[in-house]
Amino acid sequence: MQEKRELSRRKLMGGVAAAIGYAGMPNRLWAQAPAAQTPPAGGGATPARAQRPRVTPEEYDALAKLSSNENPYGPPESVMKAMTNAFKYANRYGYPDGNIVEELAKHHDVKPENILLGAGSGEILEVVGTTFLQGGKKVIGVEPSYSSVYQHAAGIKADAIKLALKDDYRQDIPLLIRTTRKNYRDIGFVYLCNPNNPTGIVVTKQEVKQLLDGIPEDMPVLIDEAYHHFVADPSYATSVPYVLEGRPVIIARTFSKIVGLAGMRLGYAVAPKPLIDSMRPHTVGSINAIVKWGGVAGLKDTATQEHVKKTTIALRQQTMADLKALGYETIPSETNFFMVAIKTKVEPIIEEFRKKKVAVGRPFPPMNEHLRVSIGTPDEMARFLVAFKEIFATKQQAS
Ligand code: PLP
Repeated sequence: MQEKRELSRRKLMGGVAAAIGYAGMPNRLWAQAPAAQTPPAGGGATPARAQRPRVTPEEYDALAKLSSNENPYGPPESVMKAMTNAFKYANRYGYPDGNIVEELAKHHDVKPENILLGAGSGEILEVVGTTFLQGGKKVIGVEPSYSSVYQHAAGIKADAIKLALKDDYRQDIPLLIRTTRKNYRDIGFVYLCNPNNPTGIVVTKQEVKQLLDGIPEDMPVLIDEAYHHFVADPSYATSVPYVLEGRPVIIARTFSKIVGLAGMRLGYAVAPKPLIDSMRPHTVGSINAIVKWGGVAGLKDTATQEHVKKTTIALRQQTMADLKALGYETIPSETNFFMVAIKTKVEPIIEEFRKKKVAVGRPFPPMNEHLRVSIGTPDEMARFLVAFKEIFATKQQAS
């Protein structure tokens, strides 16, 4: 019976896949495909409960995975140990959880009441949307940015005001202030991705202050610091101190990037208590025992975090220099990814990479001639560069 059901399910999926061109190994990572229970891919073109293409484990393993801004090294030894130990709670509900909330509060010098856990920061972003977009309110932010926020808004029938980036790809803070003030009554919250995904550019601490001082003081601001740990630019600073001042800011953080726990799903918000209290009823509470212990260990393993940061930055600089030597400009990045201007439409190029078993980026309109590349292992970056040279050598010959 089970087998029969499985067969007809597979038949159905096969039919759907064939109909939309996904019969074999999918080569359009960002496209809509049969539903799969995988978390969001770190670029935001896919919503949290993403419709993602199916790949076999073998196909997946064979890819250089440079499309989702993951940590290619995986969780460190300290985190693996803590998680392995926590498996003994797998059959329990009221298990000790390593005091994850208290540990996070201590880490940020706030109270436990200022912390809200999510199954990835993706859940936090959605909870903010659900909480603050009630009654036909809109979210305002830039485009391109982490589009899950806008997609979630669309999913709950809320609108988004998306502002263009400046010519240098920075976020236009004066424009953000002006437009927020003009539409004050309609706006539910401001979304600031810092550093921004997909550009990798920071909003400086002065600009964050300018924004918070320039908009109505009761306007909630969601500041997404998913890539905080990779930033080296001293003009950037976390916005957590604004929480202590009682400003209506919600800082979103994740264990998916620096700690390497994307598949385990852990993120959190830091915000003033009244905001946390209004958001909490919208959370699902689906964080598991294993990752809570992993999170506590990861938070404390600052040596590994520093190592991942250093290695990532060195590889990013090297790859960008290699591309420059080939005549391709990149956007300076403060994250574990960067964008390269490829002087041609990005969609077919992504397909070309895919054929060479290198998964990169996805389109980030309106930056349709930029390719976003995550920083993987040295081996993955070498495979990327070989593929890049092959693809663009053919292009140059053709033109
Ligand atoms: N925010 C940004 C800017 C991201 O790029 C991502 C994922 O790539 C997320 C949030 C969500 O990450 P997660 O749900 O894994 O914490």
